[in-house]
Amino acid sequence: MERTTKPHLVLIPWQGGISHIIPMTDIGCLLASHGAAVTIITTPANAPLVQSRVDSAAPPPCGGAGITVAAIPFPAAEAGLPEGCERLDLLRSPADVPRFFAANKRFGEAVERHCRGGASLLPCRPTCIVAGMCHPWTLGLARELAVPCYTFHGFGAFALLCLEHLFKHRPHEAVASPDELFDIPVLPPFECRVSRRQLPPHFLPSNSMGGGLLQEMREFDVAADGVVVNTFEELERGSTALLAAATGKRVLAVGPVSLNHSPGLDARTMSDDDARRCMAWLDTKASGSVVYASFGSAGCMPAAQLVQLGMALVSCPWPVLWVVKGADSLPDDAKKWLRENTDADGVADTKCLVVRGWAPQVAILAHSAVGGFLTHCGWGSTLEAVAAGMPMATWPLFAEQFVNERLIVDVLGVGVSVGVTKPTENILTASKTYGSEAEAEAEVGMEQVMEALERLMDQGAEGEERRRKARELKLKAKGALEKGGSSYVNLENLIYSFV
Ligand code: UDP
Repeated sequence: MERTTKPHLVLIPWQGGISHIIPMTDIGCLLASHGAAVTIITTPANAPLVQSRVDSAAPPPCGGAGITVAAIPFPAAEAGLPEGCERLDLLRSPADVPRFFAANKRFGEAVERHCRGGASLLPCRPTCIVAGMCHPWTLGLARELAVPCYTFHGFGAFALLCLEHLFKHRPHEAVASPDELFDIPVLPPFECRVSRRQLPPHFLPSNSMGGGLLQEMREFDVAADGVVVNTFEELERGSTALLAAATGKRVLAVGPVSLNHSPGLDARTMSDDDARRCMAWLDTKASGSVVYASFGSAGCMPAAQLVQLGMALVSCPWPVLWVVKGADSLPDDAKKWLRENTDADGVADTKCLVVRGWAPQVAILAHSAVGGFLTHCGWGSTLEAVAAGMPMATWPLFAEQFVNERLIVDVLGVGVSVGVTKPTENILTASKTYGSEAEAEAEVGMEQVMEALERLMDQGAEGEERRRKARELKLKAKGALEKGGSSYVNLENLIYSFV
């Protein structure tokens, strides 16, 4: 393969979740804006998302010039999955999870073949490969090409630091019950008190991925040359440096990557009716008056819980923009409740606008009408809220989201906790058939949600202090990506260290 002095980064996002594909594509756009050639390798069903994200990146010099999006067939059918089943949110049940990872392994072999020899899809030799956390096969490829291999998890540095501590010191094994709180003491003087039940799948007694796969991922982490994180050094109180010390690896914080994705452009070019409807509705609302409630790219909750949440959202005094995923698989009575109590038909003066499709979240968070964000604490959403200077009410669902909640509420002081203690089952942790959790109890009642919203939207000193802190972080986030800022410098390091 032709040698080059021009930096060429190959990014292989974990295609399992949109929330991994989005930030890695945004990283690709940022790298290209710094002058690197970038190849993003993905699967055919995910390529349009990557390409549209590249096309709607901030205008030149930050745009898609220099980015190649390469789609390698994903052998879903060969692994017993429906054709086109190329993300975890498209799986039918937890039984599909091992099939998905088997297909991912074969996908890896196909990528390796494509990256080798004369028929290579790479225009020139890469200077560095950045791979999603579930692509352990990338390491062999990188070693073969004699280039460094960095990992990208989609988690923040504080969460990665907590995970490192859990792997090494295993404090969760010393507690007597899954609900007993224990501290993950990585960032003193702050405590990070969580229960075993609230930890990511790696630390749960059973999950649908299987121990072997998780072990392989951990070994990949340990063997990789460095870590790319969507965060900025000033945000997580020294977590990036502590993570580097704990892992012995270079940790490059290059975010918040969503800032390169112009919300204005996003909103103007939106072809989707739902997205246009959201923005038009927000335009009619007073500044800082709206609660935006969203639980990530695929976050669902049991029907009984959804209704309790909904009752709070429709009866609170603020207009609410609520994104509901998986509405089609709700039981009939929950569907009926949603139909009768919210409006999804675009009536401009509706109190609670429900979006069942894809909401333009970055544009929503940047809209002046939005005053608070009820979030599941996914790291993408968390950082987008930080970048927008938005206070949060926290409702973690699973994975590392309970740890993120501690960061948002206790460390950064920009959030109020709803007080959820039990994780919501998802396809990686569920033992039952996915989608049949309809009868599960609601842990959080309507009043509890209302209390959190009142604190979130509080116009008194406490609320104002949270808003002040959020505004301060917004400025720091912007500064990190500006010329000479910490993320700017780290992007340059990622590009030019290996040429
Ligand atoms: N997102 C969006 N519209 C939606 C739902 C999600 O734009 O209707 C985006 C959101 O902006 C974020 C990502 O999807 O970039 C969700 O990532 P996060 O890490 O917060 O959560 P996850 O999807 O992994 O649970």
